[in-house]
Amino acid sequence: MNTDFLKAKNDFLEAAKRTYDSGIQTGTGGNLSVRIPNTELMIVKPSGFTYGSCTEDNLCITDFDGNLIDGKFKPTRECTLHGNIYKRYPHVGGIVHTHSVYSILISMYYEQLELVTLHSELKFGCPLPVVDVATQSVTPEELPKVFEAIDANPGVMGFLLKRHGLVAMDKTAVKAGQTAELIEETAQIQWEKHKMDLLLKK
Ligand SMILES: [Zn+2]
Repeated sequence: MNTDFLKAKNDFLEAAKRTYDSGIQTGTGGNLSVRIPNTELMIVKPSGFTYGSCTEDNLCITDFDGNLIDGKFKPTRECTLHGNIYKRYPHVGGIVHTHSVYSILISMYYEQLELVTLHSELKFGCPLPVVDVATQSVTPEELPKVFEAIDANPGVMGFLLKRHGLVAMDKTAVKAGQTAELIEETAQIQWEKHKMDLLLKK
């Protein structure tokens, strides 16, 4: 096994554990992936497994079109989204997608996730867009909406899928997991702040 693959695999497993422990994803929903450097391949979560049950034995290696190259299980149905982000944005090395409560709430009532806290401002640099995708997972037909939202904010670290969840992109899967946690935390604060503003009639 080459070093690039080992690094990617360790990054993937650490991110899966961390994201599971953080509690921002329940059940078998959500998915994560990592680019295997210097290849056109990625490691993705198998469909139907929780973040907490990702192990060396069940991970899937696919190409950027989602074709299974190695592994015993069916890859996540979000391969289209992950693979096309890796194809189009070479700086992205890891992606974490979760169905987190406050991110979903924000996506239903707002056009974007605002930089309501100092840390979100420092880390994200710009508000994160909400993308309205009608399908359960992002299809090739829906991809242009995602690209348009990312391209409008070069370097944006993530986005929200309307009524669905968050997508965090970073250099590694572990970093993308940390970004996902900050997105969810920021969404919670934006949501609660709105209620407090109403109470104080701001
Ligand atoms: Zn999803």
